[in-house]
Amino acid sequence: MSPAGRIARVVPDLGAGAPGGVYDYLVPEPLQEQLIPGQRVVVPFGRRRVFGLVVELTEESAVKGLRPVERIRDPEPLLLPQQISLAQWISTHYLSPLPEVIRAMVPPAMRGGRADARPVRRTRPVDESEGSLAGERPELNLSPEQERVFAPIERAVRWSSPEEFLLFGVTGSGKTEIYLAAIRTALERGRGAIVLIPEISLTPQTVARFSRHHPGGVAVLHSGLTPGQRGAEWRRVRSGRARVVVGSRSAVFAPMPNCGVVIVDEEDSTSYKQYDRVPRYHAVEVARRLGRILSVPVIMGSATPRLETYQQAAAGGPLTMLRLPRRYNGRPLPPVRVVDLREELAWGNRSPFSRELSAAVGRSLQEKGQVILFLNRRGTSSVVLCRGCGEALGCPSCSVSLTLHLPDRLCRCHYCGHFEPLPERCPTCQGPVLRALGAGTERVEAEARQLWPEARILRMDRDTVGHRDAHREIYEAFAERRADLLIGTQMVAKGWDLPGVRLVGIVNADIALHFPDFRASERTFSLLTQVAGRAGRGDEPADVILQTYSPDHPAVLRAVEHDYEGFAREELEVRRALRYPPFTRLLVVTRSDVREEVARADCEDEAARLRPQLKAQGVEVLGPGPAVIPRLRSLHRWQITLKGARLDGVAELLPAGKGWALDVDPA
Ligand code: ADP
Ligand code: ZN
Repeated sequence: MSPAGRIARVVPDLGAGAPGGVYDYLVPEPLQEQLIPGQRVVVPFGRRRVFGLVVELTEESAVKGLRPVERIRDPEPLLLPQQISLAQWISTHYLSPLPEVIRAMVPPAMRGGRADARPVRRTRPVDESEGSLAGERPELNLSPEQERVFAPIERAVRWSSPEEFLLFGVTGSGKTEIYLAAIRTALERGRGAIVLIPEISLTPQTVARFSRHHPGGVAVLHSGLTPGQRGAEWRRVRSGRARVVVGSRSAVFAPMPNCGVVIVDEEDSTSYKQYDRVPRYHAVEVARRLGRILSVPVIMGSATPRLETYQQAAAGGPLTMLRLPRRYNGRPLPPVRVVDLREELAWGNRSPFSRELSAAVGRSLQEKGQVILFLNRRGTSSVVLCRGCGEALGCPSCSVSLTLHLPDRLCRCHYCGHFEPLPERCPTCQGPVLRALGAGTERVEAEARQLWPEARILRMDRDTVGHRDAHREIYEAFAERRADLLIGTQMVAKGWDLPGVRLVGIVNADIALHFPDFRASERTFSLLTQVAGRAGRGDEPADVILQTYSPDHPAVLRAVEHDYEGFAREELEVRRALRYPPFTRLLVVTRSDVREEVARADCEDEAARLRPQLKAQGVEVLGPGPAVIPRLRSLHRWQITLKGARLDGVAELLPAGKGWALDVDPA
């Protein structure tokens, strides 16, 4: 980039619905000395004047008759050079137009589409801990095992070496303490840290843990912030006042000057992939790229890393494997007992609780231990079927069945939000008998209240956690032992460190297992391992009871043994044989339209066109076929999947425009 170029490449108008291109402008003589990439400028656009962001300065343009940049909006660049490089990489790697990536990086409060818009009002930062903890210093005493894995991390942070680490440590092994030590090292060197954690783990307790050990102030970035709060946190980071950022997926875009380490906790969390809008990026891969751009280390931690990540470490590179195979303080991992639900059914037990699980819950409650019951399905029942004609109640806009929520007698679509009252009779045949099948958390709660009327029971799922405060209230009530039994979805599966939990009951281990996705087995294994990992963190022994219809499935068998590496070895063999990631790459092209024929015909045309063109490059074209959920929010969706060891260079050949979506490395 030439600092005194005469052409500025500008993303005009950062507002929503803005144009898709990058446009060239002349840089007038007086501005040539001052203009730098990342700055906001005022440019003419059509008949309007808009804010734009300079992404590059060059000497030449292919376009004739360029208009000039009018003025510099603010001398301090809005985006740092590292962010612009990152945006360029994301744009290329995830086939997303650069302006869309730039817009995703800039918080809404700072997009200010119209050049005559008023400046944003300043809002108080959200971090209540700021200031009060200043001066307190990380007396962090790592165990010898922790010291061993920390040594190479410390070296890399100290010397700013762009090394990538997989911190592969069992649940409760003390990974967070390693992150804290790495952050302390960065701060000691006058540098900052970006820490990504899954949205759901971003509790005040986690944030407090990160702010306790250093005086620099922690900025928190998550989806629950108002635009004003987000803007305020952004400015604290940009100005250097907050030197540590803790946030979910998009915190990887934090404008941190002088960042010294990038950390991704629970790197396998599905929340790191943005799949529903452009740019469809994976925050872990973006974090790794950021590390390379800045030449700083990246630490990815998990008890159940993605197989892609694990393989890159187990194969000896490019990731460095750091293992913490035991829990901190020598606590054992809890024993997992399997209950075969087929036998329960044969015995005539139709309740969500096997005899063994209900006995164990009763025993734990009697001994004043806490219980977590996990079921990855909310609502009362997942299907309402007519006894007469066999039809299931379906959503009018999506091809999924409606979930019954008995407390308000509503049938809800979990994909589009549609709801309707539970009908008295079958809408298809007017039959009088409707049966509800497939228990969800509401049903488990109702049965638990009947079985243990004395117990203080809480439920945590998307229905009870409408907003962040509700999440915090439920968590705190349980953490402070104001409740005995907590029923929850995957919201309760990760990260929690509660010593009072004596029993974890997995009500149905199979829910994710039969999903038509090559990662179903991996997901199930991870979820089971993580949930089981909530037990046994206190001084008293704890148990896990796992109920399943598939006791012989490898994901279940290995989870029972807490054997990630055994699972990974087998599963990687399967992936290699079937040529799935990490042994190949995928790119999904989706066409959606209100008319099914159009979506389908367009996909067929494209597949026929692409197949011969891509064959030479060794890229297979699979499909077209309907998406996993063929109709969503009234749109029919057809897909083509590209599969190949290398996908570079396919971009120019792919369809683009309205109705088409590209997802590179889909999750
Ligand atoms: P992980 O993130 O691997 O699940 P945590 O970092 O939450 O594990 O650690 C599990 C528990 O052990 C926590 O209660 C934590 O405070 C404690 N712990 C871990 N390392 C240390 C240490 N070096 N000193 C004191 N307590 C520790
Ligand atoms: Zn729907």
